[in-house]
Amino acid sequence: MSEIDIPESHPRYESLLTRHRIEAGVEKGITSKQGLIAQGRGEAFDYLLGEETTPSAKRAERAAAAQLLLAEKPVLSVNGNVAALVPGEMVELADATDADIEVNLFNRTRKRMVAIADHLQEHGATEVKGLAADARIPGLDHERAKVDEDGIYAADVVLVPLEDGDRAQALAEMGTSEIVIDLNPRSRSTQHATVPIVDNIIRAIPNITEHARELADSGHEQLEQCLKEFDAADALDNAEQTIRQGDLS
Ligand code: ATP
Repeated sequence: MSEIDIPESHPRYESLLTRHRIEAGVEKGITSKQGLIAQGRGEAFDYLLGEETTPSAKRAERAAAAQLLLAEKPVLSVNGNVAALVPGEMVELADATDADIEVNLFNRTRKRMVAIADHLQEHGATEVKGLAADARIPGLDHERAKVDEDGIYAADVVLVPLEDGDRAQALAEMGTSEIVIDLNPRSRSTQHATVPIVDNIIRAIPNITEHARELADSGHEQLEQCLKEFDAADALDNAEQTIRQGDLS
């Protein structure tokens, strides 16, 4: 048995664990009620993808690791669902890629910002950005545009999981390269990504970390090559085809 009273052998273990974590996130004040809806939407896509990482998503996760390692200033953006689902895993990825972690919320309140920062610190984060909010992403209304000047605002690569399309688009327009994790290959966020990863964040983050550790000693050219071999349009097309033609037997 793990953090919920369901054996890991249960065929729906991962899905039930995910729901439990989101529910606990809402109870703890880190996930918004809208986060429950986003989770349900994601689950439907995951079901059609066979609830596993596709070979195409695996390639995207490797490219994401290469891009984070190549970045001069990588930042991992965390919202309420991400904090509830993969807090410790985000800290491990930040360590493996020397990235900063920044809390960035659609429904931003100081109370939730602080609760998420505390939650990440409980899971091993030493520094969490996002509370200074001393810069703005151009083209977005006031609350949603708030970022840290020495965080997302200055980043060359940002990992933006489970993000809304507007913000992903505004960041792309600033010239920031985005790695997006989203189970919907048609979402506006994935469409704006340099590296779109159509996979459940529960699987995607540990996979990126594993690749980052494996690629840690690679030279600049090898990392560039790894990124060059990745085709974003092809990855999105592949995910959509898998969803449309999925064999659920
Ligand atoms: P867009 O504007 O980009 O079309 P949206 O604003 O409608 O997207 P939301 O409803 O906010 O998107 O949901 C966020 C996205 O996160 C959804 O596309 C959903 O599929 C995805 N999602 C939810 N849970 C997960 C998860 N565990 N792993 C990966 N993606 C997820």
